[in-house]
Amino acid sequence: MSFDFQMIVDGKSVPSGSEFVVHNPATGQVVGHAPEASLQNLNDAVAAANKAFLTWRALPDVDRQGALVAIADKLDAHAEELAQLLTQEQGKPLGGMGSRWEVEKMATWARFTAKMSLPVEVIQDNEAGRVELHRKPLGVVGSITPWNFPLLISMWHVAPALLSGNTVVIKPSPYTPLATLRAVELMNEVLPAGVLNVVTGSDAGAVNVGAAMSSHADIRKMMFTGSCATGEKVMQAAASTMKRLTLEMGGNDAAIVLPDVDAKAIAPALFWGAFINNGQTCGCMKRLYIHADVCDDVIAALVEFAAKVPVGDGLLEGSQLGPIQNQMQFDKVARLVAQAKESGKVELGGVPGEGLFFPPTIISGLSNANPLVSEEQFGPALPIIKYSSIEQAIAMANDSDNGLCGSVWSSDVATARNVAGQLECGTVWVNKHGALQPNAPFGGMKKSGLGVEFGEEGLKAYTDIQVIMS
Ligand code: NAD
Repeated sequence: MSFDFQMIVDGKSVPSGSEFVVHNPATGQVVGHAPEASLQNLNDAVAAANKAFLTWRALPDVDRQGALVAIADKLDAHAEELAQLLTQEQGKPLGGMGSRWEVEKMATWARFTAKMSLPVEVIQDNEAGRVELHRKPLGVVGSITPWNFPLLISMWHVAPALLSGNTVVIKPSPYTPLATLRAVELMNEVLPAGVLNVVTGSDAGAVNVGAAMSSHADIRKMMFTGSCATGEKVMQAAASTMKRLTLEMGGNDAAIVLPDVDAKAIAPALFWGAFINNGQTCGCMKRLYIHADVCDDVIAALVEFAAKVPVGDGLLEGSQLGPIQNQMQFDKVARLVAQAKESGKVELGGVPGEGLFFPPTIISGLSNANPLVSEEQFGPALPIIKYSSIEQAIAMANDSDNGLCGSVWSSDVATARNVAGQLECGTVWVNKHGALQPNAPFGGMKKSGLGVEFGEEGLKAYTDIQVIMS
């Protein structure tokens, strides 16, 4: 079966002149086709969103909150369909923290956001005058998403944008456009026309849709999640229209294991902190620093756990990890692993599998200068660096242009928190890695991004401030 979805503009399916192929990374087979948007398609979508903005922004909060609940109900009702589609185009397993989990979290995020609002703040109210701070929606928000969590990240963009009174044009990654096309089609069954539009493009077509969005005169904000290199381009393209920006970009998360840990007890959480979604996760562990006293024990426990994790076609119910999503990413992981093998010790894996499959790989004995440590691998290969003093570990962890997330592992939570506070990154976990929640702001320091998502801070980023003094 091949899926062929259309773009949704102004509440209607729109034909496109051409389309591009989407492949299943587990089999190489064609999953379906997605439309190649023309500049006219994009302009139509932005115009529809601009028109819808006039009425959407004027609705009382409760109506937009209700719309998000209706979206969540709709997604829940189609959860299995979306999960099956997502697994076929993305490669991740249906079970575990795979597609079913992602679709469920999508609805969870919509429901959580539906309870939020940004009421008027009274800054001053006395004989000298009254000062009110109002949060005004911006207009059309352009959303660009990556291929690793295409559905969940789409909801991270869409829910706060809609709740705060904006309208949206979303553009998913060309590697994973199908589930988003279908999800937006479903959401349009409960939204007014034009409030949420979707356009797709291959990046290699006549128009790079993401680039055209970033410089579009009638888009007021770009909400971008993807690589640092592309994020920089978005920022440059957005400058002349003074767009508001939230940029969620790459990470090279460090985890520091202190000498007092119970190696066997932390091994499962260490593994999933690094290998969730096959390591193709912005905020997953990408460098593991282990104190010399426990290094051998932690590696042994980690390898024992990792060796038993089933890797296979995501549609097979037993699979817990799937293939790498695309050839470009596979080649990058293969290159970094080959380089790391020259100076490090392969503790597990290390040899590419069939097609786009790459086994969980753990390589020890590396220094901070090794490319598997210093670059974002974004795949199932974890470098281990041994350290002897905590100061040294913190310095190595902070020796990066990225600053998305990090973690500290210890039996002593107070000590771990103290180390956490010295890491230069937006989120630090203690004894876990990668857990995001809708009430906790999430974003990167340094080159990992600009601004945050989630919670009240994230919601405010979809508004401009207006102060009324009377
Ligand atoms: P990417 O930058 O290659 O692509 C992201 C999106 O940008 C895609 O939709 C793509 O079509 C679009 N795009 C391509 N050229 C563009 C241009 N010139 N202007 C605007 N948009 C353009 O990233 P990817 O490979 O899809 O995703 C992997 C990267 O995303 C990793 O670096 C990962 O760390 C990062 N990521 C970050 C977060 C976060 O929240 N910080 C979350 C997920 C992924």
